[in-house]
Amino acid sequence: MTQNDIVDQSTDEVIGWQRQIHQNPEPGFNEHKTAEFVARKLNEFGLEVHTDVSATAVVGALKSGSSDRKVIFRAELDALPIQENTGLAHSSKVDGTMHACGHDAHSSILLGAAKLLAETPNFDGTIYFVFQPAEEVLGGGKRMIDDGLLDRFSADSVYSQHNWPGVKEGAVAIATGPMMAAVDDFTLTFKGSGCHAAMPELGDDPVLAAAEFMTSAQRIVSRTVDPQSALVLSFTQVHGGTINNIVPTEMEVQGTARFFKQGYSDHVADTLEQIAKGIAQSHGVEFELNYRRGYPAVINSAVGAAKVAQAASSFLPNNLVQTDLPPSLGCEDFSYLLNAVGDGAYIWLGAGEVGPREGLHGDCYVFNDKLFPLGLRLWMSLAETALPRGT
Ligand SMILES: [Zn+2]
Ligand SMILES: [Zn+2]
Repeated sequence: MTQNDIVDQSTDEVIGWQRQIHQNPEPGFNEHKTAEFVARKLNEFGLEVHTDVSATAVVGALKSGSSDRKVIFRAELDALPIQENTGLAHSSKVDGTMHACGHDAHSSILLGAAKLLAETPNFDGTIYFVFQPAEEVLGGGKRMIDDGLLDRFSADSVYSQHNWPGVKEGAVAIATGPMMAAVDDFTLTFKGSGCHAAMPELGDDPVLAAAEFMTSAQRIVSRTVDPQSALVLSFTQVHGGTINNIVPTEMEVQGTARFFKQGYSDHVADTLEQIAKGIAQSHGVEFELNYRRGYPAVINSAVGAAKVAQAASSFLPNNLVQTDLPPSLGCEDFSYLLNAVGDGAYIWLGAGEVGPREGLHGDCYVFNDKLFPLGLRLWMSLAETALPRGT
């Protein structure tokens, strides 16, 4: 039987698991039933299963041959706080919670790969199948590392697949270098004495300071970094004031920065502080900056990206292996694992064009079923490429 036949025979079962998980979504760090299901299946397939690693994380270990090489294949368990509006027969049964990012499918595909690779171990080394909690916002990937995941399951490389609407349907897209952006957030508060709006000479004006700050801060993007290297700075919230005839005592400005280059986090934080300080001084007001570092950028290693392209090319035509797509300014906590391991790649499975509200995190999002066999084949092929036999 060819690998294609093996995959085709398993696809329906994998889709069944996805439907089940989809109907019973659980939010980040609460994926108890999903984790239980995954652990039970991995046990059935004969893997060594660990559920005491970090929160609801599940790790399945599969060894074949005699090599000491180890690789991590990772998928996510968590759903999102969204009310599903797809009208599907297998819609979420939980009000206000939905698998709208495809993590139910990613986990099912990885489970399917674990089953097939346990039955047909085409690799030499150890594969750790890591099912992680709380990818969305809460940083389950970082928590796993802080809880010692890599001390117990050290690996030479790490890979993860994610369905990607907008990329050609059925394609495997993989970039060398930046794939997803880093995300930082900040809150800046200007505090002054305020005054009667008709008598501005009697107080300090935090409104004017905030306005000047938002204009000046864009010089960080336009004048302090290499224009070839992406940096987005957006102000997303402005709060302050109560009535038209009072200059308030406080103005709060919130925003976000997105970028790929590692050093930009410190650079943006330091320069925001510098600009706020100068403006606060010139307006005679105080300021307080709370800068929060979010997920780092996902930067694929050259070796990892090449292995994925090689694995995909072994079963896909050239036009379905895309290596030249621009990175996304979205974010992913896979970066923590990739940075800690140092080698590997984040992979997009092209889900094709979708309509409004049908993209990732949309309430009409539906995982593209054509990606089940694609994901399974890619994991199987990558097992061979990352842990080749006879070397
Ligand atoms: Zn998501
Ligand atoms: Zn996701």
